[in-house]
Amino acid sequence: MSTTTDQAAAERAVLQGVPKQLYIAGRWRDGAGGDTVAVEDPATGETIAEVADATPGDALSALGAAHDAWYGGWRDSAPRDRSDILRRAYEAIMDRADDLALLMTLEMGKPLAESKAEIAYGASFLRWYAEEAVRLDGRFTMHEAGTGRLLTMKQPVGPCVFITPWNFPLAMGTRKVGPAIAAGCTMVVKPAKLTPLSMLMLAKILEQAGLPGGVLNVVTARSSGSVMEPLIRDPRTRKLSFTGSTEVGRRLIEQAAEQVLNVSMELGGNAPFVVFEDADVDDAVNGAMVAKMRNIGEACTAANRFHVAAPVAAEFARKLAERMGAMKIGRGTEEGVEVGPLIDDEQLAKVDELVQDAVAKGARVLCGGERVDGAGHFYKPTVLVDVPGDARLLREEIFGPVAPIMAFDSEKEAIAAANATEFGLVAYLYTADIKRALRVSERIETGMVGLNQGLVSNAGAPFGGVKQSGIGREGGPEGIAEYLETKYVAIAAD
Ligand code: NAP
Repeated sequence: MSTTTDQAAAERAVLQGVPKQLYIAGRWRDGAGGDTVAVEDPATGETIAEVADATPGDALSALGAAHDAWYGGWRDSAPRDRSDILRRAYEAIMDRADDLALLMTLEMGKPLAESKAEIAYGASFLRWYAEEAVRLDGRFTMHEAGTGRLLTMKQPVGPCVFITPWNFPLAMGTRKVGPAIAAGCTMVVKPAKLTPLSMLMLAKILEQAGLPGGVLNVVTARSSGSVMEPLIRDPRTRKLSFTGSTEVGRRLIEQAAEQVLNVSMELGGNAPFVVFEDADVDDAVNGAMVAKMRNIGEACTAANRFHVAAPVAAEFARKLAERMGAMKIGRGTEEGVEVGPLIDDEQLAKVDELVQDAVAKGARVLCGGERVDGAGHFYKPTVLVDVPGDARLLREEIFGPVAPIMAFDSEKEAIAAANATEFGLVAYLYTADIKRALRVSERIETGMVGLNQGLVSNAGAPFGGVKQSGIGREGGPEGIAEYLETKYVAIAAD
């Protein structure tokens, strides 16, 4: 058999292994309307699967299942049982990492090695929270007057609604599902219709790991707004956690206001990547390759604006353009490919529009600057210099492989430029001066800082943003606190 035939067979096998139905109350079933939604391979535009299209009634059934499972005992379940389920699911994911990575590449497009990295990253939230599940604690103190006792306990928030994006099809789910299960919450998850398959596989794996029916429910739908709004407005929902664009997040916060819902919002970014003149330029270029090119630039943490000290700006731009210009573009399943397709035509058109806007306003193209002809939604890795302040890509999330570089003359100017955005997710700083590193880290208005490194994601760390990048944190002890309420009991001493 030829390698191509082997590859096609492997792809068919992983696709066949994915459940395509809704997962409600521990049962897999079709949507009530009987419709399906097509999932495409972004490298070819071909349909690779059809998943169930939930109606609003299906979504409400899923919420009903989450509600019943919570009151039916999950909220009082043994922490060790919750921990063991998460640990078994973590191990099952790692055992099947190759197949799950292939599935992710087929639906999302990123190169296999990157999918494999996301599988490990996504699974790490299940392992981390398996370890946290048995460490939930409270406080017992004496009233300051010595007259009574103060008991503080942590309890699960209750049934949650989760909405996740297409760019990290597994990890954006496990960052919510892991801590929610560990805390004793139940949930309805709606993955993006562009990439629902990884989440459906996660549900299957958790089911096989022993998660009781109704604790996790998954709905896939063509019309996310009409299917999810009734859940957000339903009094049985106690929490909404959303990862996606600021525009949609803002709308969901408005809907959540009706029930005064507990909300967590992981929204858009516009990360500055700041290189000071004392930095090791080669090290900064290595970091820039990760901060810019990971996930084909389609990451909320992607470096969106490069602010480089004038004395080293030309060297940094030349070296980055050499590296980005030499990257191999292609279908993520192919050997050696480093840049996969963008998710769809709309995203491709937006990236090109932002580049053409900058060029029309005076930016110079050092490499790329155009789409790749043919099937799929490919864009050439692009480096732009002399980018004028009014270019749209300095204000808008690019979400593609484009690096605009601007030179600065002083630390003050660099900080002002980095903070000149309504977003505040992450910033990257490159400097060898420890005092400057801490000074600038303090002044930068973001939830996270990558100091001399281009990657901040870690299951043990509180991931999240300030300003319009969001509310709340995912990962670390802060990540499980999002799923716990604090109750205080005042106790009479005698
Ligand atoms: P998006 O358009 O906001 O969609 C995100 C999710 O919301 C999808 O599941 C989408 O479903 C759903 N959705 C869209 N409109 C909705 C509505 N009216 N009501 C309920 N749900 C709705 O974002 P995206 O394009 O998928 O993802 C890219 C964005 O996510 C970027 O802005 C990126 O920065 C952000 N992001 C942030 C983080 C973070 O941690 N801060 C991480 C990753 C991504 P359908 O697509 O199926 O309609």
